[in-house]
Amino acid sequence: MTEREKGRPYLRLLRYLLQWTVVAVVVYGGLALYTFYGYLEEGRSPLLEKPLSVEGFLPIGALMALKLWVTEGLFDPVHPAALVIFVLALTLSVLLKKSFCGWICPVGAVSELTWKSGRLVFGRNISLPRYLDYPLRSVKYLLMAFFLYVIVLKMSSGTIRAFLQTPYWKVADLKLLLFFTEPTRTTLLVLLGLFVLSLFIKNFWCRYLCPYGALLGLLSLLSPFKVTRWESRCIHCRRCTESCPSLLPVEQSRRLSSPECMGCLTCVSNCPVQGALDIGLTGGRRLNPFLFAALVVAVFWGGVLLAKATGNWNSNVTYEEYLSIIPGLRELEHP
Ligand code: SF4
Ligand code: SF4
Repeated sequence: MTEREKGRPYLRLLRYLLQWTVVAVVVYGGLALYTFYGYLEEGRSPLLEKPLSVEGFLPIGALMALKLWVTEGLFDPVHPAALVIFVLALTLSVLLKKSFCGWICPVGAVSELTWKSGRLVFGRNISLPRYLDYPLRSVKYLLMAFFLYVIVLKMSSGTIRAFLQTPYWKVADLKLLLFFTEPTRTTLLVLLGLFVLSLFIKNFWCRYLCPYGALLGLLSLLSPFKVTRWESRCIHCRRCTESCPSLLPVEQSRRLSSPECMGCLTCVSNCPVQGALDIGLTGGRRLNPFLFAALVVAVFWGGVLLAKATGNWNSNVTYEEYLSIIPGLRELEHP
């Protein structure tokens, strides 16, 4: 088998490398946040700065902050990194398909590892029948519509401004930390259920439940880039369709325009024929898939560096404020 017949293995390797670098950064950030919290709980000023790599897990607050930024020009100083990551994910989707899900999101990486482990252990993954798959896929859009309705349409800018000043928002990341370090029985059961389902069903969380991914998917319809198949070169081997983690019919499409496509380029990397499948621009121009990956990195990590350089990354919450909130952290309820 020649290199080309194997597809583009280096493209897959590059994606795994980028995804798992983010996973490593987030895991390190989680452990550092735990250490940071330990100091605060003992009533001492932490010896380390608060890590910010877990801020991407606050998308609902970030959506509120985005509305406030758009309507009143106020950039949330409490969790600016959460807003930056949210805006970068939206920007990536409009420009480069749902590539935040395919190349950056650590939940997507863990989800992929889980179904691949399931396939290795049990010999296969399960595809739900259409009559279950379609209604289940709508769940994430319903959740997305709910959040957009409540936050974007119903919540006033004044209410959002008040929420973003509450002690709850100031320690939202620490509340999230407790959710995982001190899980309730219900939390454990839900996480276990998701894990088991994810072993058998490809990307169960992303495909059926994630409202964040649903929003990014709809925005990605605006992207000028689409997975494009050139019929004259295609030998209909179906390797693209069979390898697609989103179960899309790549081999039957000319230009794939689906909100489920996360631009992961797994299909392109598995295609054995030079020039049969690529990421194409509107108008028929092809883009080298490695250049697509470079653009994803440039937009996301470039955006993070820009936010740091312009002072829009670090929180303005002081250690004194943390120390005054921490004793009541467990009892602190959403206002
Ligand atoms: S169509 Fe290709 S790029 Fe889109 S999700 Fe499937 S494998 Fe990834
Ligand atoms: S696009 Fe490539 S992988 Fe897909 S069927 Fe054609 S030759 Fe096979």
